[in-house]
Amino acid sequence: MRSPRRCSRNGCPRQAVATLTYVYNESTAVVGPLAAFAEPHTYDLCEPHARSLTAPRGWEVVRHEGEFEPPPPTTDDLVALAEAVREAARPAPRPPDEADVDPHTGQQTGRRGHLRVIPPSY
Ligand SMILES: [Zn+2]
Repeated sequence: MRSPRRCSRNGCPRQAVATLTYVYNESTAVVGPLAAFAEPHTYDLCEPHARSLTAPRGWEVVRHEGEFEPPPPTTDDLVALAEAVREAARPAPRPPDEADVDPHTGQQTGRRGHLRVIPPSY
């Protein structure tokens, strides 16, 4: 499991809540909500570092307006996804051809899942 993302500043142990992106061709540093994926030229920042960020000379800082929220926990989503995948990969609980044999007569009941095969009438 992935550990929570940390501020990318040296020695900063705080959790990242914002992503700093350098837009080089516009000489702009954008501080926005935490990006879902780490990309080149992006740096995760904790709230104090995101708020105190200053741009290098000649650069502008565009800062996200409003609160920086810690990312919502995604554990539930991941668990749900894992469950769904496991469910899909699971083989049928029982082979229908064996289980559908009537234990008294030894004859097949003709069920195939939710479908019923109508035997030919004689
Ligand atoms: Zn920090």
